[in-house]
Amino acid sequence: MIIVMEKGADKTDLDAVEQKIVELGYQPHVIYGETRNVVGAVGEERGKEKLQILQSMRGVENVVPILKPYKLASLEVQPEPSAVEIVPGLAVGGKEFVVVAGPCAVEGREQICETAEAVKKSGARALRGGAYKPRTSPYSFQGMEEDGLKLLAEARDLTGLPIVTEVVNPRDVELVAKYADVMQVGARNTQNFALLKMLGQLDKPILLKRGMSTTIQEFLMSAEYVLSEGNRRVILCERGIRTFETATRNTLDISAVPVLKQQTHLPVMIDPSHATGHASLIAPMSYAAAAAGADGIIVEVHPHPEKAASDGPQSLRPEAFDSMMMQLRKFAEVAGRIMAE
Ligand code: PEP
Ligand code: MN
Repeated sequence: MIIVMEKGADKTDLDAVEQKIVELGYQPHVIYGETRNVVGAVGEERGKEKLQILQSMRGVENVVPILKPYKLASLEVQPEPSAVEIVPGLAVGGKEFVVVAGPCAVEGREQICETAEAVKKSGARALRGGAYKPRTSPYSFQGMEEDGLKLLAEARDLTGLPIVTEVVNPRDVELVAKYADVMQVGARNTQNFALLKMLGQLDKPILLKRGMSTTIQEFLMSAEYVLSEGNRRVILCERGIRTFETATRNTLDISAVPVLKQQTHLPVMIDPSHATGHASLIAPMSYAAAAAGADGIIVEVHPHPEKAASDGPQSLRPEAFDSMMMQLRKFAEVAGRIMAE
């Protein structure tokens, strides 16, 4: 249910509503608006009619059911887009088109620092790099684990770029959170609800990737798992879905961007690297992302793709990344966005 407060409602009214929601066995989530506040009351669907009693409380204008199965992610609860702050001065979902770049995996000090410096010079705003790699084969490189996280922290010290890195196992959440600025959930974990619930208890932004066979609704339900635990900082990321097509690694569902924008206030990014699997397709898909209204991209860049421990064929060389960034700026501008210098 959504409890719409009157324009003139004060803090005492809001507190009383929150308290009543708790008494009725639901969790209140206050969304502070410019002119009025609303409170989302989420919990058990069955018996939620009892929340109608809130209608008679002081300061309450209306109590309306949330029609969508996802609640806190929906535009019904929050019609304005969310700008998710990564670090002070950098948000995804605002005016800026944010580019996150870096290698698939952290492989060593020189590799990650060299990449970080290069992508920063070209205008990337955050550094990506996996220290825990969810590989399809157990015999493939699995990542440098904590040593990789330490190297990411060194690269952050060197460049000032915040770090986006994946947590694969719920057991590692605390450790990864010690180093990461943004916790990434990979496509293979989109519906790992135990992991999502843990991430919902963190005070850190979550980059939630779409599973390779999750529908938009299932994707939003996954976001809801994080939101309902109290963490409001969720960024969605479309990274291609499984289809019959084999010319590309996955099929980039570019329409997911406007579809999501019609259903949620959460920011949406595109990962053109995992979506296509080919370095030559990264630039056109990144331009398409900007044109479709995405809030940013996350892209793989490696100084020597031929030597990469993982995903070399879909990694851009720093020079190719740099020229793409110059073009991308123009697409972002046409889409009403700005990119940092
Ligand atoms: C990644 O970004 O490192 C990754 C493994 O991507 P995905 O989870 O989308 O396959
Ligand atoms: Mn990769």
